[in-house]
Amino acid sequence: ARWSTEQGWHDARLEPYHPVELDPATTVLHYGQAIFEGLKAYHQPDGSIASFRPWANAARFQDSARRLAMPELPEEIFLDSLRELVSVDNQWVPTEGESSLYLRPFMISTERTLGVNRPASSYLYTLIASPAGSYFASGVKPVTVWLSREYVRASPGGTGAAKFAGNYAASFVAQAQAAEQGCDQVVWLDAVERRAVEEMGGMNLFFVLGSGAEARLVTPELTGSLLPGITRSSLLRMGERLGLEVEERRITTDEWEQKALSGEITEVFACGTAAVITPVGKVRHSGGEFTIGDGGPGELTMKLREQLTGIQYGELPDPEGWMTKLA
Ligand code: PMP
Repeated sequence: ARWSTEQGWHDARLEPYHPVELDPATTVLHYGQAIFEGLKAYHQPDGSIASFRPWANAARFQDSARRLAMPELPEEIFLDSLRELVSVDNQWVPTEGESSLYLRPFMISTERTLGVNRPASSYLYTLIASPAGSYFASGVKPVTVWLSREYVRASPGGTGAAKFAGNYAASFVAQAQAAEQGCDQVVWLDAVERRAVEEMGGMNLFFVLGSGAEARLVTPELTGSLLPGITRSSLLRMGERLGLEVEERRITTDEWEQKALSGEITEVFACGTAAVITPVGKVRHSGGEFTIGDGGPGELTMKLREQLTGIQYGELPDPEGWMTKLA
């Protein structure tokens, strides 16, 4: 669908996949007004296709649009686009293990001008899809993460809470640094003190303190510079349902290291639509490294993972009504 100041949203249509042609003076190529979402469609046992909390993605897309001074896309248009695409793109082949259709809605500015002083007056919203398997080739093998003290992803008043393309562009250099250090992922810290843990590249972080009936779930609070993950908010709810104490609060790298070494932090995991739930086994930083528990996947981590994927694949009850039928 397209948007212009004169016409608002118009021209929504389903087309075969094809390249997009852009004038070299198109504003998105110069000033980067580009936002996106990521969600998945899953085959259900009754033959239907459903997605996990797509209305939450629609709402976050609007939040991102507001931050980037782009027009909001009505939630109904967002949902209709998912339904329409999945009604024809429904033949992905279930592979061994996890298999879904990754849906990628995005919006870019399309005005032709080199003027930089105001937001563009025309936009294009598009949805594409791709079959998806597991995010990490290693499956649920714990990942090693790198605490990024040199680069930050987001700062107060910035775009960190939006799913804005530039956030990811700003991340690649630290991701390359992490890879050089033998790590799978970057952990982003707050921009001001570089002490508080924020999130990872495409995932939010959870800490398990204590174990068994005493286990508590802690995740960094939403400071405005990390993405409010839909998996994150779902896991907070699932934790409560399991009778766990859940806390959204500031957690520093010092607390992480000390409590991992003392054994109070028993598990750490990352969560997101693409990564589902992935255990974190080891943490590296410029001053050394430490291991979480015995370095293997934690018990609660795996339990939450089974519950979440059980709901998504329609194999477990969905008490919150999170699954939305698309086709
Ligand atoms: N943080 C960032 C930076 C992300 O890109 C994502 C993926 N959208 C997440 C966290 C996890 O969010 P969600 O659970 O909504 O996929």
